[in-house]
Amino acid sequence: MGIAQAIKRTLMPVYSGLKHVFLKPYTVKWPYEKVPNLPEEGYRFDPKAGIGYPGSKGRHVLYMEKCTGCGSCDLTCQNIAEAITMTHGFDVLIVLDEGCYESFKRSMPGIVEAVEALVGSFSAEPGRIEYNSLSSFFWAPTDTRQVTKVEGGYEIRLNREPIFDARAVEVLHQKVYPAVEKLKAAGWELRKLDAATESASVELSRQDFTFNVLVRKIEMGYKQNRRSLFPSIDYGRCVMCGFCVDACPFQALEMTGEFEISSTSRRELVYTPTMLAKRPEDFNVTGVPPELNMIERMRMIFRRLVW
Ligand code: SF4
Ligand code: SF4
Repeated sequence: MGIAQAIKRTLMPVYSGLKHVFLKPYTVKWPYEKVPNLPEEGYRFDPKAGIGYPGSKGRHVLYMEKCTGCGSCDLTCQNIAEAITMTHGFDVLIVLDEGCYESFKRSMPGIVEAVEALVGSFSAEPGRIEYNSLSSFFWAPTDTRQVTKVEGGYEIRLNREPIFDARAVEVLHQKVYPAVEKLKAAGWELRKLDAATESASVELSRQDFTFNVLVRKIEMGYKQNRRSLFPSIDYGRCVMCGFCVDACPFQALEMTGEFEISSTSRRELVYTPTMLAKRPEDFNVTGVPPELNMIERMRMIFRRLVW
């Protein structure tokens, strides 16, 4: 090593240290101030280059148009936190034949109460999508359900947005059976049960009325994912390690800067593929910490303008 290089190597750390003496440290004053959630600031992995790009390890974002449903992320997480479940999207439908639908439209006792009970059991669903097509009818001013004419009858869609689960029979047990139990108490008989991974149905009958409740897989229409299988993530289990991002061969999973996802309900911590597909919204930060003096306040406002 030459003398010049030795001097350079000695002075470089001194220079770095001195440089920072004149820089005033700045602490982000969360929750009044937040670092913006830019797409490239979350943790990402490039499988071709084998490089993980440093970034925030907050909740994931799923690019559904890239996901093939291969399940690598699920397999990886099984050895870590078992937070990922590969899920299909399902619709829950009341299937009425022509006669039953006519009776329903004429408000015949019995069938109306049955449909009402089933619709009511889904009214607590978080409804972000409102269906208001020509084939819809208004159940109540704020509560619409889609009615579709099909061969031999009509289908009334009970859920407002896809219900994601691993198997149709699980949806039947969790979503339909509670209402069916009430109907059984009102004299309805449960006549038939078909249960499989992608569809499940029950037949209910009482006196002159017979209709089906059907759980049916939704074809999401992504060419690269013909099985319409996407990961859901349970943030009650996830430890934000990022290994699922590393394991995805198609860069369909990334992490974001969103870390404020606490909830008082375990159920709300399960993020479905459509929830994961939404990028975190831009932070809407208002107010300033009361302990700041005028100069610090001005500085914070200036930083917000720059961000
Ligand atoms: S980040 Fe969460 S979901 Fe992904 S592998 Fe780690 S624990 Fe599992
Ligand atoms: S997110 Fe990636 S690893 Fe997971 S199923 Fe989709 S393509 Fe496969």
